[in-house]
Amino acid sequence: MDTRTNPTLLKQHLIDPAICIRCGACEAACPIQAISHDANNYVVDPSICEQCLACIPGCPTGAIDNWRMVPKARAYALDEQFGWFDLPEELTPAQLAEFGVASPDEDAGVAEAPQTLAQSKAALAVEPTEGGVPASPAGGHTARTPPWSAAHAYVNLYGARAAQKTVTATCTGNVRVTEVGKDYDTHHVILDFGAMPFPMLEGQSIGVIAPGLDARGQPHFARQYSVASARNGERPGYNNVSLTIKRVLEDYEGNPVRGVASNFMCDLKVGDKVEVIGPFGATFLMPNHPKSHIVMICTGTGSAPMRAMTEWRRRLRKSGKFEGGKLLLFFGARSKEELPYFGPLQSLPRDFIDIHFAFSRTPGQPKTYVQDRLRERAADLAPLLQDGNCFFYVCGLKAMEDGVMQALRDVAQGAGLNWDEVGERLKKEGRLHLETY
Ligand SMILES: Cc1cc2nc3c(=O)[nH]c(=O)nc-3n(C[C@H](O)[C@H](O)[C@H](O)COP(=O)(O)OP(=O)(O)OC[C@H]3O[C@@H](n4cnc5c(N)ncnc54)[C@H](O)[C@@H]3O)c2cc1C
Repeated sequence: MDTRTNPTLLKQHLIDPAICIRCGACEAACPIQAISHDANNYVVDPSICEQCLACIPGCPTGAIDNWRMVPKARAYALDEQFGWFDLPEELTPAQLAEFGVASPDEDAGVAEAPQTLAQSKAALAVEPTEGGVPASPAGGHTARTPPWSAAHAYVNLYGARAAQKTVTATCTGNVRVTEVGKDYDTHHVILDFGAMPFPMLEGQSIGVIAPGLDARGQPHFARQYSVASARNGERPGYNNVSLTIKRVLEDYEGNPVRGVASNFMCDLKVGDKVEVIGPFGATFLMPNHPKSHIVMICTGTGSAPMRAMTEWRRRLRKSGKFEGGKLLLFFGARSKEELPYFGPLQSLPRDFIDIHFAFSRTPGQPKTYVQDRLRERAADLAPLLQDGNCFFYVCGLKAMEDGVMQALRDVAQGAGLNWDEVGERLKKEGRLHLETY
């Protein structure tokens, strides 16, 4: 007997709170809004979840891939899941019997996928659209595979399920990269791993566990930060990475808060220790083949992976052994004072990178967003959308996602292209990657 023949049993989809790094990838990927979160946990609503598995591939840690056999009438409710620190144990046959439910057969074990592979694949292929624009762009056209020429990314070397739970890094640098005196305080932080292996590629991220306990008396959960350095280290040949971290002093509604991890990181002094997990991310990776083009679209700290890719290409160019393609950067901020790395970016040669800034709050200037700059460059972008050697990356605030996707759609349609076809191709070929938070 299994759940397909036993109507009283449910193979309930659950997220392991002990492993989850609260990145939100599952919630963005779910086509039917079965996944939600509060300040503590990400949870799956058993009354909505159709077990289509669309959320599974994007989870960086595997926290999403957990299942428990429960009596249907006693499925774990959302309130229960929000309060968890760990997943509950699997119910024993005796406990199931107490609920009047027969145990599943041995061969219908909990690790088995809840549906056939064909059903799951079909569900993954179907995503709801509103007027041609994916309801959730991150779950829509974003690729689930890396570029074909990406290097191999190591993931989850440290974490709850790894042999070693964390690695201790040492802060070897911390400088402010936005203008001092302005509200928007962003830091360039360098962490060194000493003799501990921590291989990173541009586009990957790490998890930082701030010291101390949260309001529930538990260790803080990890916050994710994109690496801003190239694969061979912030300083070439060193086992270090750099991060671009914005100090969070307001929540999304504008209320004053003191973000736990961002403040810990922005206050680091040289020599301070940081507990790190990861690396995470196996798809938002750069192409490595000669003449491959890269279009980078970002806001604020979304510039971190773009800095990493740009720096790697700069080092390759310097070596004289690699012929890179075009690099285009569309970078938005409220003002130039709030734009991380504004100075260094300006000194990059024009024939190396084509940069377009968009400022939304410069006194006396009209508000400009990255999507406006994309539309201005439509004549250059339309051929790149069709070029199999061009890869697109979007990173930054969640709020930018819809506008950027709409702009890319307009660029395609303005050139007489069918966006649904172009978008699907970008996705299939690992050529469009979104990471917003
Ligand atoms: C894949 C990924 C990559 C990321 N990369 C970076 C990066 O490169 N640089 C970076 O600075 N951040 C990055 N983040 C965001 C980062 O993980 C944290 O969410 C952020 O630093 C806030 O953590 P905190 O502990 O300081 O705040 P918390 O203590 O977690 O939150 C305090 C309050 O602020 C709100 N809040 C959380 N984040 C923000 C925010 N960004 N803006 C405004 N309010 C917020 C929360 O809802 C909460 O109410 C990334 C997130 C993801 C998922």
